[in-house]
Amino acid sequence: MDYQISEQMQQKLQRIDDFLKTHIIPLEPLLLTGQWPTLMENLNGLRKKVQEMGLWAANLPKDVGGSYTTLVDLALIAEVLGQSPLGHYVFGCQAPDAGNAELLHLHGTEEQIEHWLKPLAAGKIRSCFAMTEPHTAGSNPTLLDATAVLDGDEWVINGRKWFTTSAEGASFTVAMVVTDPDAEKHSRASMILVPLDNPGYRLIRNIPVMGHKGYGYFSHGEVEFTDCRVPASNLLGKRGQGFALAQERLGPGRIQHCMRWLGIGKRSLNEMCRYVKSRKISSTQTLADQQLMQAMIADSTAEIAAARALVLETAWTVENLGFKAARENISLIKFYTANILQRVVDRALQSHGALGMTDDTILAHFYREERAARIYDGPDEVHRLSVARKILKQTV
Ligand SMILES: Cc1cc2nc3c(=O)[nH]c(=O)nc-3n(C[C@H](O)[C@H](O)[C@H](O)COP(=O)(O)OP(=O)(O)OC[C@H]3O[C@@H](n4cnc5c(N)ncnc54)[C@H](O)[C@@H]3O)c2cc1C
Repeated sequence: MDYQISEQMQQKLQRIDDFLKTHIIPLEPLLLTGQWPTLMENLNGLRKKVQEMGLWAANLPKDVGGSYTTLVDLALIAEVLGQSPLGHYVFGCQAPDAGNAELLHLHGTEEQIEHWLKPLAAGKIRSCFAMTEPHTAGSNPTLLDATAVLDGDEWVINGRKWFTTSAEGASFTVAMVVTDPDAEKHSRASMILVPLDNPGYRLIRNIPVMGHKGYGYFSHGEVEFTDCRVPASNLLGKRGQGFALAQERLGPGRIQHCMRWLGIGKRSLNEMCRYVKSRKISSTQTLADQQLMQAMIADSTAEIAAARALVLETAWTVENLGFKAARENISLIKFYTANILQRVVDRALQSHGALGMTDDTILAHFYREERAARIYDGPDEVHRLSVARKILKQTV
């Protein structure tokens, strides 16, 4: 196993880091104060620069305008970009577009690639992913109840979805719906592409999340499909393949999420170190002189390093031995890294005292937005159970 970073990659990561610190992080106050139109205008300007620099869409291959090299490289880029909540968007590899584009690239028909993937990959349109429903347990998607029925050469979709991230302003969604209710439970659902200017589709609301409603790309929608008709050719992949595609979408997605979370952890730890060195708590001492603070710094450093090694090992395994060989590790990194993220951000916030609770630093944003890391893409419990069952099965 070798995930040594080449000299060329080191330079690339440095360029991305410099760009992030010079151009992106200074825009964060616009996010934290909800100045959405100005923020988006600035971000879209930066996206053009990133495209000109040849660093656009590190998750997609060159034939669709991306700059993908290897999964390990992508993971390393995700870590750097994760240091700012704006990083992935500016570099064109943000969820949920990234997962949708990856699926379209692998399973889209020529027509779907032309119509959906090309403008999505170029950053001209946005998309969303509608799987989770308010009334069925998202942890077990075999229970989904939104349906699509074939009527002539059209699918007729009915159902309600929520936590459809970035629905506001998106041009299309990938909807996961039941097409074959009597089939074996993992073959009941399919993925269907739905243009969101469809009269049968409605964005009901942006869901308030911990006091914030978000905006556009930075929002989570509750959406409804009522006799929503789309051409039969909008099926993505094969009929009944919805669960298989969802797994395929989530595998590389979890690696990117984990590395993004480690980027957040590193930024938070850095903010903490800078603050405790500057905060005087007596005439002779700063917070940095306190051993309890030092312990938090040491623990955070160790936890980030351990998770990072595990995530990079997983990326390497997927790249070299295939997704199947890494399945258990993907569950492991998902819950392990999400919990480390939470602990590190919590310590950084604690060390800032009352300032940590304000939106004058990025920490409260991380604390609020990233609590969800332990829930989406499979809650902690589901991944822990999956790992434990596998270990128990192997034990003789
Ligand atoms: C910020 C955010 C963004 C999201 N974005 C999207 C998106 O873009 N598209 C989309 O389709 N969905 C999205 N989701 C939804 C997410 O995938 C679901 O919330 C997740 O799958 C869990 O489903 P649920 O909320 O229905 O929880 P439930 O399935 O009802 O579970 C509730 C809780 O029960 C526990 N639990 C569940 N199963 C077990 C078990 N077997 N054993 C023990 N405990 C268990 C867990 O603690 C879990 O948190 C998002 C969610 C959040 C919070």
